[in-house]
Amino acid sequence: MRNLRSARPIFCFDSSTPEFCTRPRWSCDGESAWSILNKFQWLNRLPLNALLAPLGRADLIDAEPNLDLRFASMIDVKTTSTNLGISSARITHAFVPIQNQTLARAIFSNVLRYCPICLIDGFHATLFQCLLLDQCPIHCRRLQENCPQCHDTIEYRLNASAAANPYSCPRCLIGLSPSIDAIHPS
Ligand SMILES: [Zn+2]
Ligand SMILES: [Zn+2]
Repeated sequence: MRNLRSARPIFCFDSSTPEFCTRPRWSCDGESAWSILNKFQWLNRLPLNALLAPLGRADLIDAEPNLDLRFASMIDVKTTSTNLGISSARITHAFVPIQNQTLARAIFSNVLRYCPICLIDGFHATLFQCLLLDQCPIHCRRLQENCPQCHDTIEYRLNASAAANPYSCPRCLIGLSPSIDAIHPS
């Protein structure tokens, strides 16, 4: 099994900063914060405490954070944009577009909802978290809410477990995207 717990960077594609491996062209409009941050973590393999700094949340290093990925307030957008090499607009749109958090929590799921076909290509949309949407508008496939292997739900959060297992199920560790698994050097 591939080593998912390495804290050392694996390799770089194009680096926009001297500190972190980034691959800006690996993201696209509409991509979710879960997908963007998991890809960044896939490249960098940082312990959660080290991952907080490039997201502008070094203040949480000693807080054992368990951040809700629905809300842009979990990160500093400008700092994240700089360190990930992705525009502030795209980062902002990677979160739920509703300011009222009570309403947003009611409409957007707190567990990962995904299109199996999109995920094969390493794409997850913020829109998929909307409970009013039943299927992927591109592939017309019903959105899934369970891990394909262990069938557990996957929290839509950034915490130590998620950071240690990027783009994978934190419970059974299966990789969720074959295209991302395929570029891993091992
Ligand atoms: Zn799809
Ligand atoms: Zn699983």
